[in-house]
Amino acid sequence: MSILKTPIVKCVERLRGATKFLPDGLCYLCQQHSNTAVCKVCEQDCLFFNNHKVAANLLNWPAIKQGLAPGHYQQLCALSYFQWPLDHLIRRFKYGHPSLAIPLAQWFLRYSLVLSGPLPDCLLPVPISPWRYAKRQYHQTLLLAEYLGKQLDIPVIANWAYRRGWQRSQQTLGRRERLRNLKQAYQLGNVVFPARVALIDDVVTTGATIATLSHLIHQIAPDTDIVVWSLAVTPAKPDTTLLLPGHQLGALATNS
Ligand SMILES: [Zn+2]
Repeated sequence: MSILKTPIVKCVERLRGATKFLPDGLCYLCQQHSNTAVCKVCEQDCLFFNNHKVAANLLNWPAIKQGLAPGHYQQLCALSYFQWPLDHLIRRFKYGHPSLAIPLAQWFLRYSLVLSGPLPDCLLPVPISPWRYAKRQYHQTLLLAEYLGKQLDIPVIANWAYRRGWQRSQQTLGRRERLRNLKQAYQLGNVVFPARVALIDDVVTTGATIATLSHLIHQIAPDTDIVVWSLAVTPAKPDTTLLLPGHQLGALATNS
């Protein structure tokens, strides 16, 4: 039966399926042939934070720091703002494309400059709620942490904290509501925290999640240094002066 004669419901299902799973060998952004998830041309055009300018700590950039709920973490590293094309890639990663953990983590190592400072003793993925895990079938920040941990030879503690099941999704809430919602959302596991830990997140939006988690760690391990490694940050005020395309950052890295 040709697609024109297919009942409309089946036709919609087929089209959904076609856009959900791109054939292997195509760039996720330009859909040209590529042997990497994002082709080199797209990567070089992507805008990343110029982390040289902030000494690999986005808390040194007032426009970012002022937009975040204050927490007990000393450093924030990320690739870029949660805007095109990173927002597209992260949404794909979170909703049905777990294999994007690898190229996104590779970008994180290439552009965040985390390797320029002291590395953490362990990686702590931001917990996922049980109902979201049941729906998604994977824990996206754990996938990132596992890849980074393997590359950097740093242990990952998967069950260091738990997210209780029935809080409302953070995505639909405003800043004040997020903080209120999170107060009772997390519970620590039975963990002895080392001297320096990294929280692994996908997107830091209001900073409420990392503030809450860092507060919980600080309560039982006040001497532990906490850093946050996230793929993206949602800007309170969009500010492009900290961004540079991948090809310029590559040149900076070569010359430094
Ligand atoms: Zn491309």
